[in-house]
Amino acid sequence: MTQVRSRDTGWALYKQLLGYVKPHWVSFLVAIVGYAIYAASSTALAEMMKRLIDGIQSPDAAFRLLLPLFVVFMFAARGLGTFLGTYFMSNVARNVVHALRCNVFNHMLHLPGRFFDSHSSGHLVSRVTYHVEQVTGAATNAITILLREGLFVLGLLSYLLWTNWMLTLLFLAVTPLIGGVVSYASKRFRRISQRIQDSMGDVTHVASEALTGYRVVRTHGAEEYEKARFARASDYNRQQKMKEALTKAVSTPVIQLLIAVSLALLVWLAMSPALLDNMTPGEFVAFITAASLMAKPVRQLTEINSEIQKGIAAAGELFGLLQEPVEPDSGTREPARLQGRIQLRNVSFRYAEDQPEVLKHIDLMIEPGEMVAIVGRSGSGKTTLTGLLPRFYRPTAGEVLIDGVPIDQYRLSPLREQIALVSQQVTLFNASVANNIAYGVPEAERDSIKAAATAAYAHEFIDRLPDGYDTIVGDNGVMLSGGQRQRLAIARAIFKDAPLLILDEATSALDTESERYIQRALEEVCRGRTTLVIAHRLSTIERADRILVMEQGRIVEQGSHAELLAHNGAYAALHRLQFQEDVAS
Ligand code: ADP
Ligand code: MG
Repeated sequence: MTQVRSRDTGWALYKQLLGYVKPHWVSFLVAIVGYAIYAASSTALAEMMKRLIDGIQSPDAAFRLLLPLFVVFMFAARGLGTFLGTYFMSNVARNVVHALRCNVFNHMLHLPGRFFDSHSSGHLVSRVTYHVEQVTGAATNAITILLREGLFVLGLLSYLLWTNWMLTLLFLAVTPLIGGVVSYASKRFRRISQRIQDSMGDVTHVASEALTGYRVVRTHGAEEYEKARFARASDYNRQQKMKEALTKAVSTPVIQLLIAVSLALLVWLAMSPALLDNMTPGEFVAFITAASLMAKPVRQLTEINSEIQKGIAAAGELFGLLQEPVEPDSGTREPARLQGRIQLRNVSFRYAEDQPEVLKHIDLMIEPGEMVAIVGRSGSGKTTLTGLLPRFYRPTAGEVLIDGVPIDQYRLSPLREQIALVSQQVTLFNASVANNIAYGVPEAERDSIKAAATAAYAHEFIDRLPDGYDTIVGDNGVMLSGGQRQRLAIARAIFKDAPLLILDEATSALDTESERYIQRALEEVCRGRTTLVIAHRLSTIERADRILVMEQGRIVEQGSHAELLAHNGAYAALHRLQFQEDVAS
């Protein structure tokens, strides 16, 4: 499985993430102000200790009133700071995640066919679910703690420096050690997080395959195999999670111990007679209080490290995906309505560099309104040939022209609007029958939907559904039979009313009788448009204007049904074979 991985690390990633934060800078600023208030009021706790202890030694009435007021004020300010920080930071983080998630999804809708050939849908789905949630973790909890506790640590440090800078510098002597532990742990967290993310993709992938294909799994008695496969994917995920837990479980106490050691050192030093002389008891207590207050934020800061690293690893993956080049769409022509003259000039095609040629030097000219049938063994390249017209793939060599214009010169979406395609695999959306026929046209008129359904011989069965045209068809149309699904797909193509119609084994799931009906209907529909029909059953294409016979990526014969029979070549052989089969059955 190829993974998209951003080549950027560290700063480049932060900068890209910051780009997402930019539109919400007001909220961000408010949150920072909130955290600053929080940090300042928390630091004031140490100052309060000093006043308290110094005050006890010489109490007066004003002090007695002021100190409790100060306590209340300090906690009120702290509360306000917490609220501003938490709420506005969540606002920023949720917006960032929403924008990132939509961007990733939108980008995937424009990636070329090749991308989908090399990435499983399970891995792609896990990008917009799991990966994005990882970024959320980093963006909400982690940034909150980072800012809140980070500012608090800064506040405490300034207070310490202000109280006794020399002691503070001694106290800070252990920071390089702490830094070392944190940095080692960070690298490890990030590496492990990447593996965890990949393994989540595997888990999604295996589960969705086995669950959507449950019939095949059961008829082949492959339950145990799938269970083992799933357990393997899940166990790998568990192992990586445990490595993460181990790193976290070791690094946190180590860091705490380091802090404790430096605190102990501090107390020992602070109690030296030379230093004690220079400080009031209040100052001394305040200093120790501030230094020990540091333990909690530092611990929290190191604990969120793993979450931040997860977020960064996930963001790297997502930004990497966003860097994948989209389908080239540099054409400028916007055809109003094409006539439908198709021309292929010496077209060759392979799916990837390291794969064999699937189409070899194809020359073809199809006149507007012509109905051309393509026959040939499975794997001979029929579907691939039709996939070049809507530019799902681009030819490796040669040129495809429509109405005399190379198709690269058309803008993609207006070009595709002119092509109606019914493919081998019918895709239905979990929406009403009417919305499936008028797919992509939200305000379609019911009458034109009915007309399309009638032409596709679908009206009758739709009428018998519980809610007629408003029946929801279920996940990929599970409520319908194969033939019914195909008829819906044909109705969708008829509804689109495009000048170019491609029917790729569109009637293969129908019984001979319905197929014959639809055939007659299609002949009506085909009038005035260029039609390419790929059919397995030769009886259905006898009336085509021209029949092309493909073999291993080449067109080996072409002509009308009668001509090809008279020619007594590949087509005649195929025809004899099917005739014998028909007689036998
Ligand atoms: P047909 O429609 O005539 O049955 P296709 O055009 O689907 O044949 O396939 C032609 C050849 O291209 C086959 O050998 C098939 O293995 C290969 N092929 C089809 N789709 C892909 C793909 N997405 N990636 C790589 N090879 C493919
Ligand atoms: Mg095919």
